[in-house]
Amino acid sequence: MNIILLGPPGAGKGTQAKILEDMRGYKQLSTGDMLRSEVASGSKLGQEAKAIMDEGKLMPDALMLEMIAHRMAQPDCAKGVILDGFPRTVPQAEGLAQMLQHHNMSLDAVIEVRVPDDELFNRIETRAKESGGARSDDNVETLKKRLAVYHEQTAPIIPYYERVRKLHVIDGTRAIDEVTEEIAGILDKQA
Ligand code: AMP
Repeated sequence: MNIILLGPPGAGKGTQAKILEDMRGYKQLSTGDMLRSEVASGSKLGQEAKAIMDEGKLMPDALMLEMIAHRMAQPDCAKGVILDGFPRTVPQAEGLAQMLQHHNMSLDAVIEVRVPDDELFNRIETRAKESGGARSDDNVETLKKRLAVYHEQTAPIIPYYERVRKLHVIDGTRAIDEVTEEIAGILDKQA
């Protein structure tokens, strides 16, 4: 089963993806994590990515599509994947659809974890007090930019998935285990 978790930065997609990976054995694919490991390795791509990520902007669509296609072809993805942070633009969503079709793979559910902007700001302020900035793009200024990018470039993929009848919207302001339970219920209905 292949699933997309969609939602603004800080909605809890990564947390839910990790729980679902443990529960169901689908592989969490976080394009943000892949880029952060490029940054940590000091590669040329990593250096370019760091500048873009710190600005809260998006990496080029073709590059992200190639990264995901390459990763999904690995054997540990055979049972299915949870896409976390991808697709982030309409061209990425269209490219993913073509890629899945080409490989005879399905897209089973797109789950939008909905959290209002003011709640995301509350969350980031709490995190800043607790962690002291483990991620260089995890601060109020960058969140503002990341949210603007989300509303402009990522939110348009929501009607796209609504049209193809794959979209499920859930309330991401609730407790982590309640959100997990709702996602699990949606996945059970697809099986
Ligand atoms: P994330 O951890 O998913 O919030 O991603 C962190 C940053 O990595 C984003 O703010 C973007 O700069 C970049 N990024 C991650 N995924 C994508 C994607 N699918 N397309 C473009 N840029 C991405």
